Amino acid sequence: MELEGMHHITMITGDARKNVDFYSGVLGLRLVKKTVNFDAPQAYHLYFGDEKGSPGSILTWFEFAGAAPGNPGAGMIHTIQLGVPSEASLEFWAHRLADNGHTTEAVDGVLRFADFEGLQYELAVADPGNPRLQAEHPEVPAEHAITGVQGVRAFATHEIDADRELLMGALGFTEVAAGEYVVEGGGVRFRFGYDPHPGYGGREGTGTVHHIAWHSRDEDHEGWRERAGAAGAQVTQVIDRDYFKAIYFRQPQGILFEIATTSPGFAVDEDPGHLGEELRLPAQHEHRRAQLEQILKPLGDPRANSAQPPTS
Ligand code: ZN
Repeated sequence: MELEGMHHITMITGDARKNVDFYSGVLGLRLVKKTVNFDAPQAYHLYFGDEKGSPGSILTWFEFAGAAPGNPGAGMIHTIQLGVPSEASLEFWAHRLADNGHTTEAVDGVLRFADFEGLQYELAVADPGNPRLQAEHPEVPAEHAITGVQGVRAFATHEIDADRELLMGALGFTEVAAGEYVVEGGGVRFRFGYDPHPGYGGREGTGTVHHIAWHSRDEDHEGWRERAGAAGAQVTQVIDRDYFKAIYFRQPQGILFEIATTSPGFAVDEDPGHLGEELRLPAQHEHRRAQLEQILKPLGDPRANSAQPPTS
């Protein structure tokens, strides 16, 4: 039984429209699902990824309008690492981000930038073995398009090894250096690394990571639940998220972990050619559609005015 890298990472935004403008419009990811927070359906839950919404490409946001800005501290993920195809792609993105008003910094072969709410990213040449999970965008040639999420970095608590046993013993991570892990399976390699305690506790809010979901094969999901539980984690029941099944537990460093299945995927309730165009509601909230459509501000279809993607 192996985890196949990361399934998705979920953040908090205060502005769904700016979120679509940045992730779809500037970074060129595909909005693959426009739905609501299942537990608070008056708020958007937006999913971005590659053309199909493949696990490993997915970044999602809960919109909490008016939420205070967060700040990642001890026991929180602070940086998301995205892959690009080549060194030349880093140049492309330095120009594109600058043209859109984002400062970047090139350090040690990575290009650092922050989104409009301060969430930190690093772009780096992707691990060559990883699949290219790309979306199409008219202004982003395929030779430079983002290829998926390669890793995350978190701040440790005072006890940098607090979750070592869970990560390695129960979840099958490999430690490649002190506090630096990889999770490898199904032809995917994902990095999970710690930086030392920053000297302050964090504050969850806009521009911070809410949780990270690891990718399980459908048939292994119950097995992961048992393993995490046997390692001492307080694991939830299996929860049906419509696009995948999920379990959650807070790991010893304080980071909220989820384990999500491959199936059924984002095409379960929409034509794969039209993902993300319409508001999709889970069955239990469908009867409130008229009311929710009044509350949720329209986001439009980010692809509606796009020309055909360039061929290269
Ligand atoms: Zn999740």
